[in-house]
Amino acid sequence: MTTAAIILAAGRGTRAGGEIPKQWQTVAGRRVIDWTLDAFRQAPGIGPIVVVLPPEEMDRITTTDQILTTAGGDSRAASVKAGLKALEKVKAPAGVLIHDVARPCVSQALIAALIGALRHNRAAAPAVPLSDALWRGDAGAVAGTLPRDGLWRAQTPQAFAFNDIVAAHDAHHGDAADDVQVARAAGLEVAIVPGDEDNIKITTSADFPRAERILRGHMSSDQRPDFDVRAGNGYDVHRFGPGDHVILCGVKIQHDHGLNGHSDADVGMHAITDALYGAMAEGDIGRHFPPSDSRWKGASSDIFLTHAVQLVQERGYRIANIDCTLVCEQPRIGPHAGAMQTELARITGVEASRISVKATTSERLGFTGRAEGIAAQATATVIRP
Ligand code: MG
Repeated sequence: MTTAAIILAAGRGTRAGGEIPKQWQTVAGRRVIDWTLDAFRQAPGIGPIVVVLPPEEMDRITTTDQILTTAGGDSRAASVKAGLKALEKVKAPAGVLIHDVARPCVSQALIAALIGALRHNRAAAPAVPLSDALWRGDAGAVAGTLPRDGLWRAQTPQAFAFNDIVAAHDAHHGDAADDVQVARAAGLEVAIVPGDEDNIKITTSADFPRAERILRGHMSSDQRPDFDVRAGNGYDVHRFGPGDHVILCGVKIQHDHGLNGHSDADVGMHAITDALYGAMAEGDIGRHFPPSDSRWKGASSDIFLTHAVQLVQERGYRIANIDCTLVCEQPRIGPHAGAMQTELARITGVEASRISVKATTSERLGFTGRAEGIAAQATATVIRP
């Protein structure tokens, strides 16, 4: 019996603080979404995983044989429907776990308990009994105490027989707080599985340190990623051809020649991208963006660099520094080096003070000396804290 998972990450909420939605923020050295995805990827018995993303951020998750992405809708319910549709397109699973991306601390035990619950129930969801007293407040004062008997705090992942939850969502109109509400509206009985106090939902900035402690605690000593430092190097050459400008490290510079290449021939950015791939032992640009693929013809090279940066982040690393040397007699690089650092900082999300661009001539020796082309070499260091 296949159980699939849907991770809801289409929210744009920034209530948790910071300028970016919480799924892209970092906790315990990795993006929230990567922790959540990993929990399901590592769970025995989970088949396909569909990540529902904002339409404009689809490329921030790398798809694999197991991980698919689909664009979300305007409401939570619409996003769940999109996830269900994406699963139907591949192959309808027997069961599905629907989970909010903002709960990255979900444990393997809880996922297993829900998969198990689906063997005897058409729907099951985790919850913890309410232990605090429950008040009604009015104008800053307690206006009454409510009975808490029989009250539960709902969590995700919520588990359903696939066909049942598809039918329930098809019959449901408007939004819903969660999928249990949709299922119950369709007449499904939902079993309560004991939830986990550590399965917190990151809602405000105060939740990040707590999530960090929990995630670090989850890792057994052999899983806990050791502090790791890696360096990679990249080297690239492009030949001069007809043209009136070159693009170097993302900056357009007027010149009496252009650079030939399949993409925009940004030799500096290519060397930096290869340095990052090299640090992750992930080959080079050609492996990820084959020159035989016409999609990359004339492509702006920030696509390649963005992909390499994402790969570094997904592995739990962050970029400590980048150093790039351009080798050419002309054009002069010095006047543009600052703009190049700023542009590279923008693309990589690394502060400009950790990015160096410098240039050298080759004393008129060799192909760079004869002004036949430009060479670049780059070093990048990445750290897993
Ligand atoms: Mg190149």
